[in-house]
Amino acid sequence: MEIPFNKPHFTGCETLHVAAAGASGKISGNGMFTAKCHDFFMQRYGFGKVLLTTSCTDALEMTALLARIEPGDEVIMPSFTFVSTANAFILRGATIIFADSNPENPNIDAGKLESLISVRTKAIVVVHYAGIACEMDTVMQIAARHNLLVIEDAAHAIDSFYKGRPLGSIGHMAAFSFHETKNISCGEGGMLVVNEMSLAPRSEIIWEKGTNRAAFYRGEIDKYGWVDVGSSFLPSDLAAAYLLGQLDRLDDIQEKRKTIFASYQKFLSPLQESGDLQLPFIPDYATHNGHLFYIVTREPAQRNQLIQYLNKKGIQAVFHYLPLHQSPYFKAKYTGLPLPEAERYADCLVRLPFFYDLTGEQIEKVTNSISAFFKG
Ligand SMILES: *Cc1c(COP(=O)(O)O)cnc(C)c1O
Repeated sequence: MEIPFNKPHFTGCETLHVAAAGASGKISGNGMFTAKCHDFFMQRYGFGKVLLTTSCTDALEMTALLARIEPGDEVIMPSFTFVSTANAFILRGATIIFADSNPENPNIDAGKLESLISVRTKAIVVVHYAGIACEMDTVMQIAARHNLLVIEDAAHAIDSFYKGRPLGSIGHMAAFSFHETKNISCGEGGMLVVNEMSLAPRSEIIWEKGTNRAAFYRGEIDKYGWVDVGSSFLPSDLAAAYLLGQLDRLDDIQEKRKTIFASYQKFLSPLQESGDLQLPFIPDYATHNGHLFYIVTREPAQRNQLIQYLNKKGIQAVFHYLPLHQSPYFKAKYTGLPLPEAERYADCLVRLPFFYDLTGEQIEKVTNSISAFFKG
């Protein structure tokens, strides 16, 4: 495709750090570069505790272990999300209760949450779609009333804010992704954030295969051993070194991506005014972080025609999640209410090419093509 959907951005700073990690003679996990990344995130966003992981999927699996999810427990989450949000809890035997999205944007409809809670509910997982915050005050109040944990799937949401607070700092735990399709990346990578500090000591043990090795390395204990369940959730220091190279340029990356978002918004707003399509809605309490730009057509056939039309012009536009309650894995198990908004986003949403090196000319080609489609 002449204009691909995604292209990972290489800042050039990665090389130096990866070389230094190699030369240091220690490239396994929890090394010097992991510590540097941890410091960066703690200082910049004021998270309670952070742990780099091999993926956001792994960070979500850690949240399920930390929440002590057991068979029969219920976990509420949006249907319009990636499979990892649900799998992490399915692996622990949870029953997933799917919630619908807002009519204004694909985030979980906080107004309908309380009706989904039962005596078995243990946690609510929110997904900040496109890096735009969910209604966190409402979610946290409901959770407090029913004594539930709140987990933020912040895979899209690095460097984005809710009422001035960084996403990932509000729930009891959060999970970020550094997959190559996300704003900053080390190929495959992620991060667990623990804000509920009573969970912090155990998070480190689960991270290190169920051992207290991290405390041993800090000199807090004189030998380490098997103290709990766990797995190998920590990435090699080579991945952390690469990630640090991206963090060195985080402000530049974010600024560039927000400019791209603003251009799409400007060029496409006439089509929203004419009622041809719906653009990302950013509530007053939220910011966006230039993660992705989507448009929503009025009906499914038109969405599919638009994707084909753009593809023929060399523009790779793509749909996004299929609603999990209708997936081949879950369909037969689903006994809840219809989720019309989740289905509408699955059927009518299109993501436009979005990456650091996307040029103004390319953005114009994309937006002109979309306008031509709606005029034709
Ligand atoms: C990308 C993504 C994930 C998974 O991230 P990985 O780092 O690839 O495991 C989870 N949830 C959402 C919402 C995502 O977009």
